Amino acid sequence: MELRRGINASLVVKVRTIKAGLIQLHRLADLYNIAILPGRVNELDPTTDEPVIRIRTNQSQRKKLWNIAHELGHILAINDYPAELLESFNASASGTFWELEDELQAWSYADILLRQLNPKFYSREYIKYKHQCLRTYYRQHINKEKEG
Ligand SMILES: [Zn+2]
Repeated sequence: MELRRGINASLVVKVRTIKAGLIQLHRLADLYNIAILPGRVNELDPTTDEPVIRIRTNQSQRKKLWNIAHELGHILAINDYPAELLESFNASASGTFWELEDELQAWSYADILLRQLNPKFYSREYIKYKHQCLRTYYRQHINKEKEG
């Protein structure tokens, strides 16, 4: 995935509504040649050559906005990573500290994207959701450690 470093702020314009925010994130994805398709889970599809974001259809517009921002965050964060982290992706980062770092960085970019769209999107509900997700990753990480 060859992407430019960071986010050009002018690519994401301020919006008032969640719906308009979703349109903006789809436009941003288009500019980076990233497809956003319906899926069974929210993820950056690991099976495709070109970046494909899959987003569950049966979730609120608000959660779609948060999850698209997060998956875009994964792509935007790639340019910041040291070689060691990128190598660990090739060898499957599942359950490793690098995976935790990747999730954390992706949420940090989601914060930036959402605040660029509308400072109000960086809401208490969003932050709560982000930390629910982070807690899940840590729980998986801890379980993995216990297994190993
Ligand atoms: Zn993630």
